[in-house]
Amino acid sequence: MEHKHTPGPFEVFREKSNQGVSYYIRKVGNGMVGEVFWNCLTRNEETAAAYAALFAASPDMLNALRHAESWASDVPHGDNCFVSSHYEGDPGNQCNCGKDGLLGAISEAIAKATGSQP
Ligand SMILES: [Zn+2]
Repeated sequence: MEHKHTPGPFEVFREKSNQGVSYYIRKVGNGMVGEVFWNCLTRNEETAAAYAALFAASPDMLNALRHAESWASDVPHGDNCFVSSHYEGDPGNQCNCGKDGLLGAISEAIAKATGSQP
């Protein structure tokens, strides 16, 4: 079953309190979807900011991956590869553009992001 999430875009804002610093991730113009908290006992603030930025970019990355998957699936591969010229009409000289590995990695990342099976 695919997990439902709030579609982006997300944004990050920083808030300092007596306990430490929080980086909140919220849907633009709407509610909070996450928080990355930093205090001096746990991790450094740059790491917290990096996690928050990664979280906030996730809807955009998911959309970009879906676009890339669709695009890469459609481009010519093998005999008339869009990227590699290694085939060059010789059936023994296989295309080595890496398309299959790329599509596998994209599929795994989308499955991880959506909680579905690849
Ligand atoms: Zn290819």
